Amino acid sequence: MTHRHLSNTVKQLKPSGIRRFFDLAASMEGVISLGVGEPDFVTPWSVCEASIQSLEDGFTAYTANAGLLELREEISHYLSSSYQVNYNPKDEILVTVGASQALDLSLRAIVDPGDEVIIVEPGFVSYASLVSLAGGVPISVATTSETEFKLQPEQIEKAVSERTKAIMICSPNNPTGSILNKEELSGIAQIVEKYDLVVISDEIYSELNYDEPHCSFSSIAGMFERTILINGFSKGFAMTGWRLGYACAPKEILQAMLKVHQYAMMCAPTMAQYGALEALRNGRIDVDKMRKDYKRRRNYFVKSLNEIGMECHMPGGAFYAFPSIKHTGLTSEEFAEALLKEERVAVVPGNVFGAGGEGHLRCSYASSLEQLQEAIKRMSRFMMSLEKSEVKSVNES
Ligand code: PLP
Repeated sequence: MTHRHLSNTVKQLKPSGIRRFFDLAASMEGVISLGVGEPDFVTPWSVCEASIQSLEDGFTAYTANAGLLELREEISHYLSSSYQVNYNPKDEILVTVGASQALDLSLRAIVDPGDEVIIVEPGFVSYASLVSLAGGVPISVATTSETEFKLQPEQIEKAVSERTKAIMICSPNNPTGSILNKEELSGIAQIVEKYDLVVISDEIYSELNYDEPHCSFSSIAGMFERTILINGFSKGFAMTGWRLGYACAPKEILQAMLKVHQYAMMCAPTMAQYGALEALRNGRIDVDKMRKDYKRRRNYFVKSLNEIGMECHMPGGAFYAFPSIKHTGLTSEEFAEALLKEERVAVVPGNVFGAGGEGHLRCSYASSLEQLQEAIKRMSRFMMSLEKSEVKSVNES
């Protein structure tokens, strides 16, 4: 087999920029990693036990393509009680292999070759590539630190063309931690209605909202019909390795997604589905505890970043801080590489998250408070060394 046999679409995909830093960090000793996008907690034990029990009980076969009905009923109940959105478990909910597969299915179900999908950047690294893999064209809209990286409705209007099919939004956001509240989502909804768009609303961090209750896009008046709601268990329930998520949408869209899913995946892993069932029934207390802990870390970490000269807005959700390093004169990549080599702190350069990310770093605070304190000590020393070298070069010139 040669290069010639590979698909042109795949050849054109860029490898994820996050990996290069992980590989570099993995080859060094004593590194504090603020790079990974996953909880540092292990999955609550009751969830693990329920999954083990399902194996002991012999539930090792496929489930229904859409997932266990019991689980879909529990998801339906969870969404209506937590976010006031009502989905019929029979035909409006699909259990998937992580939110990742739900995102992929959403795009494959709605995109025709050449259709444009608006993606908001800095944003989750998969969006643009998933749009391309579905045959679509990603159209990037860049948010900025001036608006705390919140998408402005007029930005969508500028990006819309005759080919625009959908927009992907994410609140709370990876990598900026920004959230869109009800009023802000309503502003976006007006444009969505005006241009007849579908919204893929990635709400995977909905449980990690620190200052106000999470607002689901499909709860906004008139938006249920236009929304594909994506969520899952990875972040809030500390279950990244279980690979379990879900999509919810009006019947017609959901059934189209199910058609793709039944050929491409059959169903999500059965034992993971039993674990998720327990997570929704009895795991909420654990989520509350984790949320409180993240909030404490966020408050400490963001305040400290600002104190050491890395300007950062207070992120409302997820577990990421997105400080600016523009004033240092270094690019995000140069800064991240030097910080790793000189102080052994791994962060992700903001440019890997697309337009608007340059000049920033993504720092995950899903690490123990002790680790965060040590990271701040090292970052502070690094910032001072940069200042010193600046003063020296000014004196020399
Ligand atoms: N969406 C966002 C915004 C994410 O940050 C991630 C993971 O980092 C995912 C989706 C994928 O989640 P899952 O583990 O459920 O596939």
